[in-house]
Amino acid sequence: MQNYEIWQAVLGELELSISKANFITWFKNTGIISYQEGMVVLCVPNAFTKAWMEKKYHHTIITSLERVTGKPLKRVEYKIESLKNLAIELVITNKPLEVALPSFADLTPAVPVQLFNNNGGFTVNTKYRFENFVVGKGNELAYAAAQAVVNRPGTAYNPLFIYGGVGLGKTHLIQAVGNELRKNNPDISILYVSAEKFSNDFISSIREKTVKDFQNRYRTIDLLLIDDIQFIAGKEGTQESFFHTFNELHQQNKQVILTSDRPPKAIPALEDRLKSRFEWGMIADIAAPDFETRVAILDRKCQEKFFLLPVKILESIATSVQSNIRELEGALNKIIVYHQLKNLPPSLESVKMLLTSWAGTPVRQSLTPRQLLETVSQFYSLNVEDIISKNREKKISLPRQVIMFLMREELKMSYPAIGGELGGRDHTTAMHAHEKIRRELNNDLKLKQEVDLIKQRVYVNNL
Ligand code: ADP
Ligand code: MG
Repeated sequence: MQNYEIWQAVLGELELSISKANFITWFKNTGIISYQEGMVVLCVPNAFTKAWMEKKYHHTIITSLERVTGKPLKRVEYKIESLKNLAIELVITNKPLEVALPSFADLTPAVPVQLFNNNGGFTVNTKYRFENFVVGKGNELAYAAAQAVVNRPGTAYNPLFIYGGVGLGKTHLIQAVGNELRKNNPDISILYVSAEKFSNDFISSIREKTVKDFQNRYRTIDLLLIDDIQFIAGKEGTQESFFHTFNELHQQNKQVILTSDRPPKAIPALEDRLKSRFEWGMIADIAAPDFETRVAILDRKCQEKFFLLPVKILESIATSVQSNIRELEGALNKIIVYHQLKNLPPSLESVKMLLTSWAGTPVRQSLTPRQLLETVSQFYSLNVEDIISKNREKKISLPRQVIMFLMREELKMSYPAIGGELGGRDHTTAMHAHEKIRRELNNDLKLKQEVDLIKQRVYVNNL
């Protein structure tokens, strides 16, 4: 048996014994690097997976390897390496997710939506749980990090910083952490608040001379969840207060989880000392879901709502609505309500008709060069005038090149037209910019994340 055949067989066994979410999260991009004299070296994509394998799956993997090869093992080790270096294509779950219609008996009851209070009115919504969070390529890292935090709160990754575009599940995920920890320990004190609420609380505590209460409330808890932290940018007093809150909790090994629409480094007007603290633990991004994940999410939501749709229809919705999961849910709700009100069975035609009016014309066609210019400038906290100017400083020239790149890629504009939009630049400048960014995207992870975020934004703002 070749190494990759052995590993395929092991994966086959594992896939049956653990949940799909876990399977994809942990075993994608793994493989056997070497197998000699009872010693197996496995490749794993990152330190995170390595730690997880060693802790959680080590025993299972050994047992399964022994069963598949029929030989006892002396040792299994994990090495961080790209699967590509092994030069084998491992197909793990390229078969489509199973989204056939379940029978009613298979359905889990819909989860009641209930809010519960803790710590004077801050709520964690119990509908946001791990069990109803669908894991796919775009969110698996964030999901895994959140799981790690549940297993070792305060020590695994503190803080955990999750960022990504709107409607991609950040709030869901961090509240799931709260719910899960509370399940394990009903006495745990958890505070979930948006950064805006934190800021408002802070300001009113000054006005009402209750700063001590404010501090007590925020600094004597086990888990602090702050949503959309980018909103404290530019607010000096709030940042100062948050800095101390953070330090105090961190020193006591209390877990802090933050979300944002972008990575700490890219939040303008955020104090450096906060930026650096946000990078102490783990930073995980959430990207837009791919097609398979969108279908799986729709399927999941249908089950929760007791409204079953055939796979073809789910796929059709997943094709039409690509931007984010909130939109996906919105589209599904509209379809459900329509058919319930009209008392009609859903058909591909009726669904398509509803989706046309939902999404309108495809976003990319309706996006204008000016909107793109503005979105990118805003993203980098620059004025459009600066972008168009002759200034060649890197902090301006790079965003300018990103714009030219996106105009070419997203709007399919000609190089002369791109040059024209950017203050009458020569078409060769646009060509160089496009080529340069295209090349750098392969090597520069930060740039790639930025461009992805910008695309998400452009997409969302235009709906
Ligand atoms: P964000 O905070 O990133 O803007 P939310 O967490 O509010 O996004 O998610 C928007 C909606 O999509 C919520 O109703 C949430 O339950 C749902 N959702 C997001 N991600 C997932 C997922 N992976 N699986 C199931 N539902 C999801
Ligand atoms: Mg949110």
